[in-house]
Amino acid sequence: MTNLGYYNGEYGPLEEMRIPMNDRVCWFGDGVYEATPCVNHIIFTLDEHIDRFFKSAAMLDMTPELTKTQLAELLRRLILKVDSPDQFVYWQLTRGTASRTHTFPEHSSPNLWVMLRPLTLSNIYEKIKLITAEDTRFLHCNIKTLNLLPNVMASEKAKQAGSQEAIFHRGERVTEGSHSNVHILKDGVFQTAPADNLILPGIARAHLIAHCRKLGIPVSETPFTVSEMFNADEVMTSSASTFCLSASHIDGIAVGGKAPVLLRRLQDSVLAEFHEATSRKTARV
Ligand code: PLP
Repeated sequence: MTNLGYYNGEYGPLEEMRIPMNDRVCWFGDGVYEATPCVNHIIFTLDEHIDRFFKSAAMLDMTPELTKTQLAELLRRLILKVDSPDQFVYWQLTRGTASRTHTFPEHSSPNLWVMLRPLTLSNIYEKIKLITAEDTRFLHCNIKTLNLLPNVMASEKAKQAGSQEAIFHRGERVTEGSHSNVHILKDGVFQTAPADNLILPGIARAHLIAHCRKLGIPVSETPFTVSEMFNADEVMTSSASTFCLSASHIDGIAVGGKAPVLLRRLQDSVLAEFHEATSRKTARV
């Protein structure tokens, strides 16, 4: 199989999978998700993604039927059914299947979905272009929910502008990207928005912070403004499958490029960890 769709124990090629129309994801987007790359059949930072998955589910009063260990085993079993050893691994939990009513269904258990497809990784050293967008999302952005409409709209706006990502801001305060966290380097300090309810606590963000500490780069988890971002020495985005990309332009204006050596040290460090963790030597299968 070149790709795979899994739904509550059944699986097959993605294009052939069918799900019930009454899955609450169809009516409400009622669920949570996770995504991370897999190389050489090794799912990168799997335990951290599973931990956040359970946290997101708990914040929405949902409980997966599998334990964390069982979910990890299921994902490790499923990736072996796809031809490529390098895959984009995505899974989600939806509240259940029931006739459309806002309140929780009484007689339905959650539905577990998995989607696997070949992985395309971007070049970490290639500069990207960003746009800014007013953050009109709700106040629970720390939960990785399936309600992504503002993110979808902003992402499309970025694409139409010939850019790769949209950076949200609430007034002057920068929050995060439509599908990434955003950080700046200024005067040797790595600054990133605090992990409060306005951003998703990214796994790649946490790793970046750990790399900074290892490299002796001071970290400040404090909000920064749109103008501070435009005036930063470097502007970076991070996500599970892009790691740490740096920007050349925001809204068509040249940014960053003033701390290339520090940026490169950080990117090299992040990439080395990924290669080490997913090298065949460490492979379990
Ligand atoms: N913020 C948003 C809104 C996201 O959708 C993502 C990733 O999908 C991230 C941040 C980065 O999170 P992670 O590093 O865990 O992929």
